[in-house]
Amino acid sequence: MDSAGLFAKAIKVIPGGVNSPVRAFKRVGGTPRFVEKAQGPYIFDVEGNRYIDHVLSWGPMILGHAHPAVVEAVRQQAGKGMSFGAPTELEVSMAETVCSAIPSIDMIRFVSSGTEATMSAIRLARAYTERELIVKFEGCYHGHVDSLLVKAGSGALTFAIPDTSGIPETVASTTAVLPYNETGCFKEFMKVHGQSVAAVIIEPVAGNMGMIQPRQGFLESVREQTRSNGALLIFDEVITGFRFCFGGYQDLVGIAPDMTCLGKIIGGGMPVGAFGGKADIMSMLSPAGPVYQAGTLSGNPVAMASGLATLKVLRDENPYERLTKYMDRLAFEIGDASKKAGVPVTFNHEGSMGGIFFHEGPVETFNDVMESDAGRYALFFNTMLKQGVYLAPSPYESLFISTVHDDEHLDHVINTAGKCLSTL
Ligand SMILES: *Cc1c(COP(=O)(O)O)cnc(C)c1O
Repeated sequence: MDSAGLFAKAIKVIPGGVNSPVRAFKRVGGTPRFVEKAQGPYIFDVEGNRYIDHVLSWGPMILGHAHPAVVEAVRQQAGKGMSFGAPTELEVSMAETVCSAIPSIDMIRFVSSGTEATMSAIRLARAYTERELIVKFEGCYHGHVDSLLVKAGSGALTFAIPDTSGIPETVASTTAVLPYNETGCFKEFMKVHGQSVAAVIIEPVAGNMGMIQPRQGFLESVREQTRSNGALLIFDEVITGFRFCFGGYQDLVGIAPDMTCLGKIIGGGMPVGAFGGKADIMSMLSPAGPVYQAGTLSGNPVAMASGLATLKVLRDENPYERLTKYMDRLAFEIGDASKKAGVPVTFNHEGSMGGIFFHEGPVETFNDVMESDAGRYALFFNTMLKQGVYLAPSPYESLFISTVHDDEHLDHVINTAGKCLSTL
């Protein structure tokens, strides 16, 4: 059955036909491609079309799809049992690997998704500080946790309103939402409310409103203000962990948060999340301490095997410089093509992560993102798709490259993008 047929069947039994909303192509029009298989830098749909994949499962597949070392690790572990509900050596190895890669993490707990990681981290932060208020930044996504799925209410310094129905206002009101990259606003807020803030949670590089890098001094200021107010700083590194170096973005910029959330890459495509931090905070977790947190499949052996194999390849190959070079070239060439086509494009990028905005001038804030031309992105997306390039089916997501995207793949993407841009 083809993708359209499968989608027609899917919408009868799965809300919207998908198990995660952005897969439904609502932002770009049309219906989703159903995937048959994926190999290296390619995904193949059920019609047999091949696409160069720049979504990479929204980040986890930094080694490309079906990497032999990861597949072998998963196969071996699956043969020894899929889940025990009892501790394994794999979990200890995985914890040691992450703790030594990210020095701010003394202790870590594994869960099954990024959402669980952020949800548990804020529970722990509230218990540790004996405060309620959480601060997040507009456009940052921390999973579908009730108190984090909120947006700014009216006015610059204000408490949140639910971003979706089903979240009580009383829950939303325990979160404040501030503008990303606006140091002045943040300082002003902390001056008034800092002493009631349990934690500030932030994506050190924003990856869920396209890709936005922190302005010079922004993260430093957030670190300083949280420390001086006795609030915890939580870096949500679910996307950025092991993306820019063998460690967190925090290690690249030399800022140590109190807690870190991880996911995506550390599972190598299996459902894994994690949160970790200073020992005195983490020791408050059950059964060592009074803060309850649990999971039937947490630290699942097959998932741990997949994550460990992925991290081992990253450590051994250290591909980060090479990835940066590829992305630099992609960004440069697409920028060049956009100028030739007379279509304003801003291509934010760092390491293997990027964001394409149809926007004139820098994109550094949520407002800049909102001003970019989503209609043009949809056209671009669909033309690229027809030519065998799979970009994120939304203008508000990041673009990734993997270690198996080589010059040939990039040439194809660059040529295709040049042609597409000239038709926009
Ligand atoms: C993907 C993501 C999450 C949520 O992770 P899930 O595994 O989808 O629950 C949280 N935070 C950030 C920064 C993410 O990119």
